[in-house]
This record gives sequence, structure tokens and C-alpha cells, in this order.
Amino acid sequence: MKKLLKWIGIIFAALIVIGMIFPSDTEDTDTLSPSITETQASTAASIAPKPDDPEPTASAETLSTTAPVTEAPSTKATSAPTKATVATTGTKQTEAVVATVPTTPTPLAKSVFTVHFIDVGQADAALVECDGHYMLIDGGNKADSNVIYSVLKKVAVPKLDIVVGTHAHEDHIGGLPGAFNYTTADLTLCPVKNYDSNAFEDFAKYATQKGGGITVPKKGDTYSLGSATVKILGVNGGSDTNDTSIVLRIEYGKTSFLFTGDAEREAEQAILSTGEDLSATVLKVGHHGSDTSTSYPFLREIMPKYAVISVGTGNSYGHPTEDTLSRLRDADVKVFRTDMQGDIFCTSDGNEVTFSVTRNAGADVFGGIGQNSTQIKPSTVPATKPTTKPTTAPVVEPVADMVWIPKTGSKYHSSSSCSNMKNPSKVTKSEAINLGYEPCKKCY
Ligand SMILES: [Zn+2]
Ligand SMILES: [Zn+2]
Repeated sequence: MKKLLKWIGIIFAALIVIGMIFPSDTEDTDTLSPSITETQASTAASIAPKPDDPEPTASAETLSTTAPVTEAPSTKATSAPTKATVATTGTKQTEAVVATVPTTPTPLAKSVFTVHFIDVGQADAALVECDGHYMLIDGGNKADSNVIYSVLKKVAVPKLDIVVGTHAHEDHIGGLPGAFNYTTADLTLCPVKNYDSNAFEDFAKYATQKGGGITVPKKGDTYSLGSATVKILGVNGGSDTNDTSIVLRIEYGKTSFLFTGDAEREAEQAILSTGEDLSATVLKVGHHGSDTSTSYPFLREIMPKYAVISVGTGNSYGHPTEDTLSRLRDADVKVFRTDMQGDIFCTSDGNEVTFSVTRNAGADVFGGIGQNSTQIKPSTVPATKPTTKPTTAPVVEPVADMVWIPKTGSKYHSSSSCSNMKNPSKVTKSEAINLGYEPCKKCY
């Protein structure tokens, strides 16, 4: 009997010792998704024998490399890991900055987030990259298919997680077949599945063959893109095709990006009435800077630091309008324009964003408003390159490659005094070619 009690005592002592060596780590589990917590736990265990390794770095590196594996690309809201939900839960319209800080996942070490606003003239196209995951938002006109194809090729995009055709107009979905010609997409989003135009039929055909067919998203749907989250804030916010635009917000660390397609006032109002968090560091200005978009109430909720206008040189719509530019100027927004600055690259480190452009970094983007117009000074474009270099490094075109294009006509010219030159604009030769202009036989 004594012997038995002795053995029980030994077993208890052993259990206590085991408990001290392997403490429970349940304390960490309430803020992170299960997958990440597990990874951290195993990382901590694996680095334990090497006390020299600074733990945060080692842990972050492991997380960074395992993130793409543990996260299914283009995961839909319903099946998304808890992280996606955590990222957006509790972010309210008021006190947005304060509210988002504790709920946003911290970008991982070595994490990369870039947006390439592709210069497609009077149209929209942007390639978003986060941690090796890619989302293409619009693809320009039909004639831009080759531009989209070459951008994806240059970046060597393995596949697109998400393709978004914000709405059915050709200047948004027309060039997307170029993307599908280069690679496949896991998910293709568009507010409609049918639209009566050749451009749309082409897009729908490719989306079926290479992009899993068209999915119409719902307001509130959330997707993961690496360590960034994408949330649909509005879709089909009005009967006009522009107002059907998918409006989405990307959150990466403490920075955020709002893409509004061509949404006009009616759709803006519909989104405002939902009380969603619209705050964004960077706004892709709606409808190429038309004065029917970017209304004051909408802009007030976004309060962007930066805005990008995707617009064609000398376009016949008069975009961007002085009204829109003056609203942006009044809100103290730093504006970048594809018509003046070509391709625009934005990089986020999770705390700050930096921009680089292919030309005219110091362009007077508010030009034409009047003598009060604020000039965007070269200093607003950081002289130092972003710490994380965009995968598609901007190429500054030599001055010799500048040509003149007329407001109407189809030829580009070497001199502004050539025939048929009404309101000529100076653009790069490659831009002129991308816009569909051919060399004028008279001057070339
Ligand atoms: Zn448009
Ligand atoms: Zn449109």
C-alpha cells in the first residue's frame, strides 16, 4: 500500500514537471486566426533551441512564407479565414482611423503591397499585388488588351486571384480578354452577367473559359489577397450602367484604397446610406474625374490623402472636370493623373504609401482651375525610391520619344504645327500608340 502511494506521488510530480515545460498557449488565440496562431506556436517551438535568433523576425519570416500556403487564394467571405472577418469587423464610419488600428492584421515582414494604375488613356485599369497574390481591377478598352497582356507578362503574374470588371462599359471590361489571354483567374467579378455589346460578350466568353465564369458579388462580401483584405462596399447602386459599378475597399495594414469604377452620385449616395467605413488613404477617383462623381458628402467620408485619376489626354468628355479637381483641391488631396504622368505606381508598407510616376512628377495636376490652383510639388513624390520596389519598375521615357496628338484624328505627329492639329497634347510615343494613334506620314 505504501509502495502504491509512493508511485502515485511520483506520477503527480512528473505531471507537474511536464506542465511547467509545456505551458498552454491559449492566451494568444483570441486576436489571431487559428491558422496563424498555430503557425506562431510551431514557429516558437522550432526556434526555441536557437536562443540567438531574435524571435519577432524569425516568427514574422515564417509567417510571411507560410501565408500564401495557408490562405487559399481568392477565398470568398463565407469560407475566408477568421482574419478577413477580423480585419473588417467593427470598422465604423466615425472614428474610422481609431477603429481600424486594433482590428487590422499587421502586414507581415517582407510583405509587399503595390497598386499599378496602368495608363490606358480614357479608361481604367489597375493591377494590385499583395504577397504574390494579384487582383486586376478593370482592363481598359478593347484596344488595351495588348497593354494588359504585357503588364502581366512583365510582372510574370502566375495567375490572377481576382479579376474585377467594375461595370459593363467597354473602357473597363474591353481589355480584360488580354489578361485572360495571358493567364487564368480564380474569380471574376462583375455586377452583371449579360450586357448588349461586343466588348462585353468577348469579356464574358473569356471569363467563362479562363476566369471561372462571372460572379456577381454582394455588398459586404470579403476576399483575402495575401495579407490584404478586399471588401465590396457597393454594387448595382443605381439603374444607370455607371451606377452599377462595383465599389470596393482594400485594407492593408493601416492603409486603405477605394476603387469606385464609374460610380456616380446615385451609387455614392446608396453607399453613404449604408454607413460603411469609406475612409481611404488612396482614392481611385470615380468616372475619370467627371463632375457627376466624387460628390462632397462622399469625399468627406473618404478623406483621402491621395487620389488617382485615370483619364485620357485630350478626351472629348472634358474629364477631369474643374469641379471635381476643385473639390479634391479643397479637401487637400494630392492628385495623380495618368494623362499627365503615365503609369502610376503606389506602394504601401502598411503604414504609409509612396508614389512613383513614369513622367512629369511635378505636373500641375490642378492646371486650368485658376491662379489659386495648387501645384503638386516634386517633393510630394518621394525622391527616394519606395523601400519595396514595385515589381514593374517605372521606365522614364526619354524626351525624344514625346510626340503630339490632336484632339480629333488618328495620327500622332512629330511637330505641333502639323496639319489637323487642334489643341495638340504632348504624350509619349508609346502612349500615342496605345491610344490607337498611327504615325502621320507627313512628319514621319
Ligand atoms: Zn469609364
Ligand atoms: Zn462607365
